[in-house]
Amino acid sequence: MVSRIIQVPSFDLVVFGATGDLARRKIFPALYGRLLAGQMPSNAKVIGIARQEMPTNKFRALVRKSLEVHFQLSSLSDKLINSFLQCFVYVSVDANSDKNWDLVRNELRSDKIRAFYLSVAPELFDKLAAKIFAKGLSTQNSRIVVEKPLGSNEKSAKALNGMLGNYFNEGQIYRIDHYLGKETVQNLMALRFSNVLFEPLWNSKFIDHVQITVSEKIGVQGRGAYYNKTGALKDMVQNHIMQLLCLTAMEPPSQFVSDLVHDEKLKVIKSLGAVSAMDIVTGQYWENSSENYFADVGDQHSNVESYVALKVSVNNLRWSGTPFYLRTGKKMKNQVSEIAIIFKEISHSIFDDQKAKARNKLIIRLQPNDGITLKTNIKDPGLGGMRITSVPLDMTFAEALDINRYKVANAYERLIMDVIRGDQTLFMRGDEVEEAWKWIDKIRSQISSNQIPDRYASYSSGPKSSDLLLKRDGRKWRAIK
Ligand code: NAD
Repeated sequence: MVSRIIQVPSFDLVVFGATGDLARRKIFPALYGRLLAGQMPSNAKVIGIARQEMPTNKFRALVRKSLEVHFQLSSLSDKLINSFLQCFVYVSVDANSDKNWDLVRNELRSDKIRAFYLSVAPELFDKLAAKIFAKGLSTQNSRIVVEKPLGSNEKSAKALNGMLGNYFNEGQIYRIDHYLGKETVQNLMALRFSNVLFEPLWNSKFIDHVQITVSEKIGVQGRGAYYNKTGALKDMVQNHIMQLLCLTAMEPPSQFVSDLVHDEKLKVIKSLGAVSAMDIVTGQYWENSSENYFADVGDQHSNVESYVALKVSVNNLRWSGTPFYLRTGKKMKNQVSEIAIIFKEISHSIFDDQKAKARNKLIIRLQPNDGITLKTNIKDPGLGGMRITSVPLDMTFAEALDINRYKVANAYERLIMDVIRGDQTLFMRGDEVEEAWKWIDKIRSQISSNQIPDRYASYSSGPKSSDLLLKRDGRKWRAIK
């Protein structure tokens, strides 16, 4: 297949927090992936910044290590790595100090696109944005990149947006939700808006309900203190699940351009109904008396949830009467991210076999094996009358497409290149983030601070009460396999 990769213009990328986990695990491997694909120009420059003192060659060794750990070994060629590492320089800067900012300025080139990636704790966003501005590092052609947590409620999200707005205009601010960089999430839009098949059925007349599941097998894994202040609702629903919900429920924008897409997503968030306490289930995982959520977060009295399930209504003409059930949790049976569209039963079946009434289901799988499955009813083969059976029409993208091209397209590769290209479509606009928090704040206020989350067995499908949430409506969660 002919490559359709277009090289982005040359750029200076300043990574604050360059010795941290996000930089090593995601940002540097993503850049290498793009160099490998021919999209990152070899004269691009990456200026790594963190507090500790170290010479550039030590930093380059750290970047090399990050590739060895986080990139497929087969793609590592010494020649290419060496040319990649030549793009990197290191400057030691403490966000709280005025020292060394002139060294950063000296590294920046006046004729290049500039991107400042704040890969640091959110407490430092304010200080760094102010310093970038005060030290005159920002130009018209600059962008700033931030990532979750973007606030912890509506008030703090507004404060963050206000702060960033003091130094950058909205067109320069790139708020990453890496889910939007995933191929399957973009495919959801392609599926909906480029096929005549689905759009006529994509409403409450034909869709019984929607299930969105993001389950993780890992626990809080060393992030206990952070997680215990956050919980599943804020950590996953406000951002990743909200984005999946928006892309599933939104009206088609008239064009696939940033502001029009954001406008439609915002309308969905504004249409979300208030969620009553009876439509919320929270849970905490439990293996045994020593291995459990409390031990992992170091708080025996924690009432912060590691699991949440919600029944949500989208109050507009398209969706009224079709509930969206959302669930996410840690230490669950398997790592699954999917959107399941459960269609209504056929209104009248001409066959005696009740199986002819099995609902069609469209499953959009982000992981594992990202792809699409359409559950369809067909005739059971053989003699013996008209018996019906439900079978999956299955498509795994990696099999259906050019596997090599498909494999490299990881979320950060796509998103960082979009930052350089200046395309904000797959990022979150400030008003979207604020509106999402406003809705989450209302849900939080329904979860009484004294409410004790239900216990669920580690590596299970979540608390029993979550099954009842659907059972009471005559519905059932899809199995987490
Ligand atoms: P980390 O703790 O691993 O790294 C933090 C980095 O900031 C280090 O390089 C450290 O040296 C630097 N730093 C700390 N104090 C500094 C100061 N005063 N001045 C200059 N540099 C300073 O954190 P991380 O996991 O890489 O996360 C970075 C950001 O990305 C956080 O906001 C986090 O919430 C967000 N995030 C991370 C991930 C992930 O997978 N790690 C995922 C989503 C969002």
